[in-house]
Amino acid sequence: MITRRQTGGTVKFPKNTYRKELLRKKHEFLSALGLHSQKLAAVERSSEDDLTAHLQEQSVELGLSRVVHQQLREVEYALDRLASGEYGTCADCGDAISPNRLQAVPWARYCVNCQDRIAA
Ligand SMILES: [Zn+2]
Repeated sequence: MITRRQTGGTVKFPKNTYRKELLRKKHEFLSALGLHSQKLAAVERSSEDDLTAHLQEQSVELGLSRVVHQQLREVEYALDRLASGEYGTCADCGDAISPNRLQAVPWARYCVNCQDRIAA
């Protein structure tokens, strides 16, 4: 499904869809990090700051994968950007990130061009 609704250069993103997907990913990463569902439920009720602190403790304790943590941070960052209304724009050049890319990588913070440049 491709959503491409251009209104005067502004792309309308189905934010709730991305938010849901990001939250789902977040849960996936959290469980990959070994947080059990009960703990997770408790964490969900706490603030984002608590969650971050909690995760930092967990990672130190358990020596968990940096990669998963990195991805989790990307997801958190994307959720922040959703909240602040910056979601869907490239953090580098400010261009709109293509909906296709966001569907594939909902936490993408750069457009394809910038991502290539940064990865190169
Ligand atoms: Zn860019």
